[in-house]
Amino acid sequence: MEDKIRQLLSQVKNPNSAQSLVSENRLTNVSIEGEFVKITYKRDGINPVQKREIESTIHQLLNAWYKEDKILIETISDNNSQDIFSGRDTKEISSKVEQTAAPAQPAQIKTGHGTVGNKRPVPGVKKVIAIGSGKGGVGKSTFTANLAVTLSLAGYQVGIIDADIYGPSIPMMFNKRFDKPFSNSERKILPLESHGVKFMSFGLFINEGDPVIWRGPMLGGVLNQFLFDVDWTGTDYLLIDLPPGTGDIQLSMVQNTNVDGAIVISTPQDIALLDATKGLEMFRKMNLPIIGMVENMSSFICNKCDAEHFIFGHGGVETAVKKLNVPFLGAIPLEMELRTSSDEGAPYMTHTEYEAKPVYQSYKNISQKVIDHFGPLETSPEKKGFFGKLFSKEKTL
Ligand code: ADP
Repeated sequence: MEDKIRQLLSQVKNPNSAQSLVSENRLTNVSIEGEFVKITYKRDGINPVQKREIESTIHQLLNAWYKEDKILIETISDNNSQDIFSGRDTKEISSKVEQTAAPAQPAQIKTGHGTVGNKRPVPGVKKVIAIGSGKGGVGKSTFTANLAVTLSLAGYQVGIIDADIYGPSIPMMFNKRFDKPFSNSERKILPLESHGVKFMSFGLFINEGDPVIWRGPMLGGVLNQFLFDVDWTGTDYLLIDLPPGTGDIQLSMVQNTNVDGAIVISTPQDIALLDATKGLEMFRKMNLPIIGMVENMSSFICNKCDAEHFIFGHGGVETAVKKLNVPFLGAIPLEMELRTSSDEGAPYMTHTEYEAKPVYQSYKNISQKVIDHFGPLETSPEKKGFFGKLFSKEKTL
């Protein structure tokens, strides 16, 4: 079997030279260890993007026999001949990207299971808020982006971790789709910044349309890195845009991290609400404080006649929160500009021209409730004028 795999892997090329890894004597080991296959290759002169290409090809070639999470790939280097896959336990999987020192390096991340340990605070962050939804497409990422901007406009330092592996859309919403993060001299990854909000996203590390090695079970470890290896110094609120649903990632994150509160987004119709309720129950079971629920796409206000249409039903979330005994944070209507502004890379709340619109007012009210939920932070921006500055007539922002 090992020979067969070796033979298959002779198709894997070094993107630098277009020669196969085998012909360059780079493939140093193929071994089967229980249910895992372990592959070792020399990566001298191969950059992280090329490395990803190689490993993606390996996964594709082996996917008839091994699931992704059973393929262990290690790299070695002639320079230090050190196995950089050190510390692996049998559950840890896949590729680990080598960090090659020096300041202003392109930031690199490792994949692998997160380990469940004691809850840790996120360094440099005052409050961590998890934002979840029972299903995709309900507007969770749009909400995260606009809540972040609103809190930032109110004078807070805000960060986002875009952990929505199925559709990491935060870089697009902040017009940084093609930017790459760098790491500093302490090897901390520096978040990107746009519209006053710092963020880190899986989307920055994957090629769009390249789902092969980046799937759910591998990402607990990456999330841990986004939480603990990114320089979040000075962040008041760190918002985590979770993948939809109640799977492993959500659980491992909540288990590993001091999350200070959770918000669940739902649309008003029954099916979404049912899923949202499951999400809420999960957070509850994990003893995570619930900040509240938000109803998104709650109604459509017609541009022409000003009539409000309740396309997905009316007041579904408001009724549900009563049963669930959690706060209702507010309803956000459907508005085309919410989508167009996201698509154009400037979240809705960065547009002061929308100030009089119902969506703007909703975000303002919801953000105020989030702020009230936590009360004053150590360096809360009352000094800077707080919401008075953002929303009053004398506002200077
Ligand atoms: P999720 O993160 O839950 O998958 P998104 O935030 O990506 O959902 O939203 C899905 C789509 O719906 C996006 O095109 C987004 O711009 C749009 N959208 C979200 N909320 C609204 C709203 N209130 N009005 C209009 N479009 C919205």
